[in-house]
Amino acid sequence: MNDMEVANIELKKFKKTLDMVLDCVFMFDANTFKLIYVNKGVTNHLGYDKHELLNMTLLDINPYLTKKQIQTFLTPLTSNFKPSLTLETIHQHKNTTLIQVEAFFQYIQEEDFFIAIVRNITERKQAEAKLHRDIKQAENIKKTAEIANQAKTAFLANVSHELRTPLNGILGYTQILKRDKNLTKKQKDSIQTIHRSGEHLLTLINDILDLSKIEAGKLNIIPVDFYFSAFLQDIADLMKMRATQKGLTFKYEILHPLPIAVRADEKRLRQVLLNLLSNAIKFTNEGVISFRIIYYNGRVRFEIEDTGIGIPTEHLDTIFSSFYQIGHQNQQGTGLGLSISKQLVEMMDGQLLVSSLLGSGSIFWFDILLMEAKVVDDLYQPYQHGTIIGYKSTDKTSSPFKILLIDEIWQNRSFLVNLLKNIGFIVFEANNGKEALDLAIKNLPNVIITDLMIPYMNGFELVQKVRQLPELQEVIIFTTSADIFEQQSLQIDCNEFFAKPIDTEILLNKLAKYLPLEWVFEDVDASIENTNIIGPSTEQATILLKLVLAGNVKKIINNVNQLEQQYPELAQFTTEAKKLVRNFAMSELKTFIKLYI
Ligand code: ADP
Repeated sequence: MNDMEVANIELKKFKKTLDMVLDCVFMFDANTFKLIYVNKGVTNHLGYDKHELLNMTLLDINPYLTKKQIQTFLTPLTSNFKPSLTLETIHQHKNTTLIQVEAFFQYIQEEDFFIAIVRNITERKQAEAKLHRDIKQAENIKKTAEIANQAKTAFLANVSHELRTPLNGILGYTQILKRDKNLTKKQKDSIQTIHRSGEHLLTLINDILDLSKIEAGKLNIIPVDFYFSAFLQDIADLMKMRATQKGLTFKYEILHPLPIAVRADEKRLRQVLLNLLSNAIKFTNEGVISFRIIYYNGRVRFEIEDTGIGIPTEHLDTIFSSFYQIGHQNQQGTGLGLSISKQLVEMMDGQLLVSSLLGSGSIFWFDILLMEAKVVDDLYQPYQHGTIIGYKSTDKTSSPFKILLIDEIWQNRSFLVNLLKNIGFIVFEANNGKEALDLAIKNLPNVIITDLMIPYMNGFELVQKVRQLPELQEVIIFTTSADIFEQQSLQIDCNEFFAKPIDTEILLNKLAKYLPLEWVFEDVDASIENTNIIGPSTEQATILLKLVLAGNVKKIINNVNQLEQQYPELAQFTTEAKKLVRNFAMSELKTFIKLYI
């Protein structure tokens, strides 16, 4: 066999191999683009037989490309600039249907032809297009959901504002009324009912808002340093009272020495513990509620155990879902507490767990990292006992303290003005930012309490402007808002922020933190019960009462001094009255004077 014959046999073998390849293999002349070889794949691919194909050029099967375009495309190969090229293009079948293909080109320099390996990519393209459509659709769905979510958040923020504003008035006034000694038991009970109902409504609003904040990823854990034992004692005291009212025993057990102060999100930790303890009391009809705290190596474990109705095993997971309630008789609540608590504990890097035996009771527990904090003077004191009726300045120069209160809604202002004036502060009121700034410059208050949503100049701008005033360098600023995303207040240069409705106890606590004062607490044994002493006439008492109601301490003292001088027989009365004025015990003073009207 000569060389030629061997070469032919080799060529045949090569072509046969190429025929077995499913892809299409083309060879075409580098100048004319005439096809000089096609494998079997090409005939299947394009519908022409081999003979027809070998009389065609690349342009015949590539209806969308011109010779010039193909030449330009292939130049990097002929100029040896690139070893190979890939192109996505379209081939036309003999029956005129179009086929999407991917072609891989190489240049064979010695023979001056191109070899192209072509693959049908119609299916791949269809899949890609579908994928693209699916992604687009998913993006659209996501976008619509995001818009809906934003709308929901905005709606909730508005509703929250609208609901909290009147609640602020209701709870504010019930807090003030509760302090009034003149009320009958029946009236006090009614006020207590209004207060409880208002608080219940507030819990519902807060729960729904918390959940939506968690969903929107806008709830943050904000750690602060606080006294740990006082914090726990406060919770235990409150819960013990509720448990006792229901005839249950409340056990508060600390199983390891606790650090004095710790760093954590005090508000959220309290929320979780109150929720678990309230549930324990709610779902227990007799027996014991145990609140156990175990502290070890910077970690704390809280355990809340009850001897209540228990939870069926099949519900142990689902009780943590939003709005889920097992459906006991007369059940109250929203079914949100556990869902929120679980997520809050997770945000504190813990896990809320439960174990329960139907008919015997349940135990909820979680462990979290709780770093010890340094004990410093101005740590938040969570609890103060007794009713505050006045204050004594510990720094004689600045008393009585002046407070500027800004809120567009008069109901919100009025209960705070009432409270603060009764305690002996001088209070200025404004309902918009502009008026507030003028009043601040004119009266140089010690404290400014402003809502963030006020007309003309909002709370943010007002705070900024006040902070730039040299004469108000020392002023203490508290901001308040009924909006849910109060975190924004962290960006503002204020000393404290209060979510509305304002808890007056916390507000007073904060005033004591920043102002040089000591509270005067109600003296339970105040001698005002003593009605045997000789008192003023009805007219004299009425005049004095008016002055007390107006809260003008100076005028009250002048008036009492006058009575003392003109009517020596009133000495006992005037001494008692002066004692009450000095202690800023205004509501006691009112009660005392009313005895003579
Ligand atoms: P709510 O108390 O507002 O109904 P929660 O989310 O706090 O909502 O609780 C969900 C449900 O889990 C309750 O309705 C109750 O059925 C069940 N549950 C929670 N705590 C206890 C408990 N200590 N004992 C028995 N059942 C409980």
